Amino acid sequence: MTTIAFIGLGNMGGPMAGNLVKAGHTVIGFDLSEESKAAAGAAGVTIAADARAAVKDAEIVVTMLPAGKHVRAVWADLVPAVRKGTLFVDSSTIDVDSARAVHEMAGKAGMASVDAPVSGGTGGAKGATLTFMCGGEKAAFERARPVLEKMGKKIVHCGGAGAGQAAKICNNMILGISMIAVAEGFVLAEKLGLSHQALFDVASTSSGQCWSLTTYCPVPGPVPTSPANNGYRPGFAAELMLKDMKLALEAAGSSGASVPLGAAAAQLYALFKAAGHAGDDFSGIINMIRGS
Ligand code: NAD
Repeated sequence: MTTIAFIGLGNMGGPMAGNLVKAGHTVIGFDLSEESKAAAGAAGVTIAADARAAVKDAEIVVTMLPAGKHVRAVWADLVPAVRKGTLFVDSSTIDVDSARAVHEMAGKAGMASVDAPVSGGTGGAKGATLTFMCGGEKAAFERARPVLEKMGKKIVHCGGAGAGQAAKICNNMILGISMIAVAEGFVLAEKLGLSHQALFDVASTSSGQCWSLTTYCPVPGPVPTSPANNGYRPGFAAELMLKDMKLALEAAGSSGASVPLGAAAAQLYALFKAAGHAGDDFSGIINMIRGS
């Protein structure tokens, strides 16, 4: 079994670290928040006095932090503090430039690294059913894979450094745009006197079919498990969608891609957040589009 350091024990990291404990690994964790440390401790994670103490004997270091600046700062602190040959894995959702910068930082110190952002949300973190999108050298990916398999059900190697983050933000930009398209379709249907169910029955088996419609339908009724049936409680909070849309725009800016619909969608999620809906599920944007 492997000795794993886990830095960032929040809503995602805490249960992910708990699943590594369940799988029989020795997990030594650290977080700045007392609440996160207490919850992870209750799940069997050994809590270290600080991040450096957590990584001292680790073979693998996993980080699950809010944003690129946190990952850059934590890796800069930890890369010089680990044993030679330690593998670094970052599962946070961060900008592609930061992901590539920390790969380079680790590489210069002789450490292998993998960017491995996830989809599947807190339910996937608890149930060990996350999808991991990985970037880095194949050999580093193969070392990370058995550990990631204890936290997820689908582990994909997307390419070299930063490719996992690139896959994550491209996917989420598609999702952010497609939810708005589906919402506009339902709002137009309402104005035209067409029932939600009728539009769903047609579009879900026609060329308008997509995940935002068939799995996550933004109106109550057609898909009973969608957040629309639960007061738009998340699910996937609008502020997290906005974070991912901004990362996509940043990446588009630095790579020279044109993403006009991504830019417009990001503006709409920003308005939705500003209107007090940061914590609502992102599909609730249909209510803003309807003006209700
Ligand atoms: P969170 O805010 O619950 O957890 C982040 C944790 O990092 C906090 O407990 C915080 O105290 C800790 N932290 C911050 N700086 C630190 C430092 N320097 N050292 C140690 N700990 C530090 O966030 P989360 O929901 O767990 O998300 C984590 C990452 O996963 C984010 O990048 C997020 O975008 C991504 N993500 C979240 C979800 C989701 O549904 N919550 C889904 C997919 C991806």
